[in-house]
Amino acid sequence: MSQMPQFQVIDGCLQRATQIPSPNYNQRPEHSDIQLVVIHNISLPPSQFGGGYIEQFFQNQLDWDAHPYFKTIEGMQVSTHLLILRSGEVLQFVNFKDRAWHAGRSSYMALPECNDYSIGIELEGSDDTDFEEIQYQTLAEVVKTLQQAYPKIAHHIAGHSDIAPGRKTDPGPHFQWSHFRALLQQAKSNVDV
Ligand SMILES: [Zn+2]
Repeated sequence: MSQMPQFQVIDGCLQRATQIPSPNYNQRPEHSDIQLVVIHNISLPPSQFGGGYIEQFFQNQLDWDAHPYFKTIEGMQVSTHLLILRSGEVLQFVNFKDRAWHAGRSSYMALPECNDYSIGIELEGSDDTDFEEIQYQTLAEVVKTLQQAYPKIAHHIAGHSDIAPGRKTDPGPHFQWSHFRALLQQAKSNVDV
């Protein structure tokens, strides 16, 4: 059996995630079902972990003067549904029923505007650093839970770089897709145990 905490989606909220509301969302278009999970990485400043800057960024509360890099993203209003920290802690910024602003210009299987129909999951990480094992384990449990709540995403998991090629590189070369998929399969097989 998995020793991970059991997540659950209730009314668009992931139970056991810390809720940190972001103002950066709007309504999904009518009749747009959730049918894709997009995996990202983010760190602020890049490749530095901790500090709470990502959380502040998604809440439009980042002090742009606190680091030279922050000047380059000054005024950007973005968000994600979920952020998985290096510790494995899960934060939720936007209700799954709402449209978070994580993908930007994008398309998946010829369907444009991925924000309309996807759930965004950011891993605290970078393109040049290995992710933590607890992040993989948590991601697998979370995606399993989301697939139970939103069956259309069962076979649709993509990286940001897959839906915005040439423009985005995350989750990056250090994200081990095969390891994640193996853990996801394992998590799913635990469901009926
Ligand atoms: Zn991204």
